[in-house]
Formats: sequence, C-alpha cells, structure tokens
Amino acid sequence: MNAPDPLTPELPVFDNSFAALPAAFYTRLDPLPLPDPYVVGVSAEVAGLLGLPPELLASPQFADIFAGNCLLPGSAPLAAVYSGHQFGVWAGQLGDGRAHLLGGLRNELGHWEIQLKGAGRTPYSRGADGRAVLRSSIREFLCSEAMAGLGVPTTRALCVIGADQPVRREAIETAAVVTRVAPGFVRFGSFEHWAARDREAELRQLADYVIDTFRPECRDAPNPYDALLRDVSRRTGELIAHWMAVGFMHGVMNTDNMSILGLTLDYGPFGFMEAFDAGHICNHSDSHGRYTYRNQPAVAQWNLYCLADAFQPLLKDPMVARAAVDETYGPAFETTFERLFRAKLGLREGLPDDVDFIGETFGFLQQHRPDFTTFFRMLSDLNATTIETKAGPTVSPEKRPKSENAFRDLFIDRSACDNWLDGWRARLARTPWEDSERQAAMRAANPKYVLRNWLAEAAIRKAKDKDFSEVQRLLTCLRRPYDEQPEFDDYAALPPDWASGLEVSCSS
Ligand code: AMP
Ligand code: MG
Repeated sequence: MNAPDPLTPELPVFDNSFAALPAAFYTRLDPLPLPDPYVVGVSAEVAGLLGLPPELLASPQFADIFAGNCLLPGSAPLAAVYSGHQFGVWAGQLGDGRAHLLGGLRNELGHWEIQLKGAGRTPYSRGADGRAVLRSSIREFLCSEAMAGLGVPTTRALCVIGADQPVRREAIETAAVVTRVAPGFVRFGSFEHWAARDREAELRQLADYVIDTFRPECRDAPNPYDALLRDVSRRTGELIAHWMAVGFMHGVMNTDNMSILGLTLDYGPFGFMEAFDAGHICNHSDSHGRYTYRNQPAVAQWNLYCLADAFQPLLKDPMVARAAVDETYGPAFETTFERLFRAKLGLREGLPDDVDFIGETFGFLQQHRPDFTTFFRMLSDLNATTIETKAGPTVSPEKRPKSENAFRDLFIDRSACDNWLDGWRARLARTPWEDSERQAAMRAANPKYVLRNWLAEAAIRKAKDKDFSEVQRLLTCLRRPYDEQPEFDDYAALPPDWASGLEVSCSS
C-alpha cells in the first residue's frame, strides 16, 4: 500500500496507540482497495477537528485516502478483537469485521482516532464481506453529525466515500466506506472478550490502556479499575438520558455496540421518535422489541452488568462490581433525564414533584401520540398565560389563543391537549420565568430538526443516482438543529405518506 504523493507538509501524521497493545488484541492488516472511489459527503467540521488541510479536502486524493486505497503517514491499520452479548445472548467472538483503525492524532482539540468502516474483510468478518453499503454509510455519517449537533455524546464521521462496486444484501447495492472519528473505539465487549477466556492479564492490560489513554484521573483512585467502571456507568447513564431527550433509539444495543467512553457507537437501524410510542421498535430485525425506546435505560443497565461481570477479576471483592454500576448508573441517568426534560418543558427551577409531571406528560404523549420533536418544539413558542384573556392558566376552548392552534392541531382530542396545557401552565406559574427568556431556553433544549428516516431516505435515493447534494444539504441543517433555519423548513415537516412503510433492518 502506497503513501499518497506529497501534497503539503501539513498532512497530519498518525500514530496508533492501540497498536502498542500486545498482538492478541488485534490483527494488523491494510484496507482492501476500492476501485474508482468518489466523495459522497464530507463534514468540514470534523476535518477541522483533525486539522486536515483544506487542500486535502479539495484534492482528488481525498477519496483514495478515505476509501482505504492509500495511507496517511504513520497509519498502522488494524482490526480489533472483541466479543459481546447480542440481543441478550452471549455471542462469543465478534471483532472488527469491517473496520480498520488507521491510527490517531492528538491536537489542541483532543485525541482522535480514525477508523474506516467498510474497507474490506478482516479475520473477524465471520463469512461476511467486510463491506458497507451506500445506504447505511450515509445514515451513519449523517446521524453521527446530527447527534453531535444535538449535543449527544457520539463518535463523529469525517466522510462517506462511494464506489460502483456491487455489494449483495437483500438486493444488490453499491459499496461505501464511512470514516469514523472518536477518541477511541473500545467497547464493553472488548472487556467481555478477555473475561470470557479467563485471561486476566489481557483484561488488566486493556483496562490499563483505557485508563492511561482516556481516563488518567482513575489512577488516583484507591482501585483504578473500580473508578473506571464507575466512570463508564456514569457516562452511560448520561448518554441514555440524552438519547431519551432527543427521542433517539439506537436499535441494536448489544454489548459490542456500547462504547467504554460513553459515546453513541455503531449506527445501524437507529430511529428518531416521530408519533410518540414508547414501545416503538426501530429495528425491523428486533422481533421481540428488546430495544424499544422505553427499554433503553434498562438495557443499558443490563449491558453495564455484563461489563461489571467482566471487571470482577480486576476488583478485589467480586460483590463490588455490580454495586459500582448500581451506585452510579441510576443516579446519573435520573439526574440527567430530569434536567433535560425540565429544560424541554421550560421549568426553570426544579420542584420535587416534577418527576410526577414528567411521568404524566409521557402518559399523555403515549395516549395521544403527537410527533415527539414537533410537540416539544411547538410547545417552546407558547406563552405561560393565554394572551387574549390574561385570565391565568385555565381558559375555555373558544378563548384559546389562535397562536396555539398549530400546537392543538397535533391532537385529535383537543380537550385532552387543553387539559395538559392547563397543567403545564399551572406548573410554569409555580416557578415564573419571563416568556421570551423561557421560550429561547426551550428552543435551545428542543430541536427543530432531527434525522427522520424519511429525510435520510430522500438523501439516499438521490445519492443512489449520484446526486449527493441532498446529503450535504441535510448535513448543513442538522449541524444546527436548535436554530431556526427557514431555508430548511421542509426538514421539520411530519413524515410524508410515502414514508409510512419505511423499515430499517440490521442489514447494512
Ligand atoms: P453490528 O450488528 O453491525 O454491530 O455487527 C456485529 C458484528 O458483525 C461486528 O463484529 C461487525 O464487524 C460484523 N459485521 C457486520 N456486517 C459485516 C460485514 N458486512 N462484513 C464483515 N463483518 C460484518
Ligand atoms: Mg457493531
């Protein structure tokens, strides 16, 4: 494999810190070249995080480099081994079946590792082809960047490179490579792998690597491994609360898809909640509904117990492993969840019974099924008292302000809507907050734009015809999901009729 021709002296030089681990942790191998690659989408912001020179982005070499056809200096490509629980069942060894970690770099913005997904088979491919299709690569690219825009911890994505090479899934599709960027890609399953093999030395090496590279503060704790497990539990709690607040459903919360750094990882059949249903299954392959919206908090805890079990050999007292999860995960989830939903509802100061009001709101949403994103965004614009009457919280339907009509139109049962609004206003009145200030704060907590399946699908359909403009246009919008962007109003619309039958499966 060749290095690219000298372009500019500013090309970043990688080094692969993961490659410093013993050989048992990975297999060194180059990506498989992808003929005639072309750029489908690029995140200029991620290019900036990496310090990539603008000349590189504009250069024809860009597609070659991020298709895996040539390597940036210092790259040491490898595929890592891990195991995991899939759909609640131990699946044994998995590993990077189609991901090559090229290396990383550290700059003033952080530590970044660069991984190609879809760049060919590895020893962990288990009979699969090592490729990713254009459809799923665009979805991962857009959602990574959309989640970052929403303020949700996530791996990032630099670009999608496509090619005409056919790839067989349910139908013949075409190949693509998505370049993922994150501080690290270690998974819960990376630890489970060694624990299942009773390989305590490797387990310890991996924990030491994670602590030294990402969480040096854990070294100062009486037991650094206990501190690491608590750190992962806390971050996972915060992560899942963020998912719930933006209506994100991961779809495949297997332990091999859970990041040790508390990032959203491995975008497959994810979805954003539209007409609210806490039991919504976004993954067509999840026949038992293990990964519904409402199950996500409990599943994350179950996954953390798997990680805690894997950590047991590192903790002197085996009973402390699950306790470390119990003492950190629940509190972190609940605190973050309440903070985020208070912000979504415009409650400036917390009151002890807010949990009840949030719970009632979920019950109301479940019964009447408004679009989750639109509900909270439109709510942000309403006044704390009704303008026409100034009569306080409770008013008869005919005296409801006209400005409220669009919000009420989200409901077939207007009186149920009015009842809930009365309760909301009564709650607002207990901690008064000037309307325009509260509304601005609510708009900063309630996105106008999320990556609805139909938006991704529309961009994918055009991309299949080699029109990549919609990918880039969507990216531009989704990077600022809380801002009013009138030029993108079409992206805030409810799903059109043609989108009602869209299904997303694990196939990618
Ligand atoms: P996922 O469900 O996408 O998280 O993948 C589970 C496991 O299957 C991981 O080890 C992946 O690397 C592997 N895998 C998924 N798709 C492919 C593919 N097309 N080629 C090779 N490995 C794959
Ligand atoms: Mg995965």
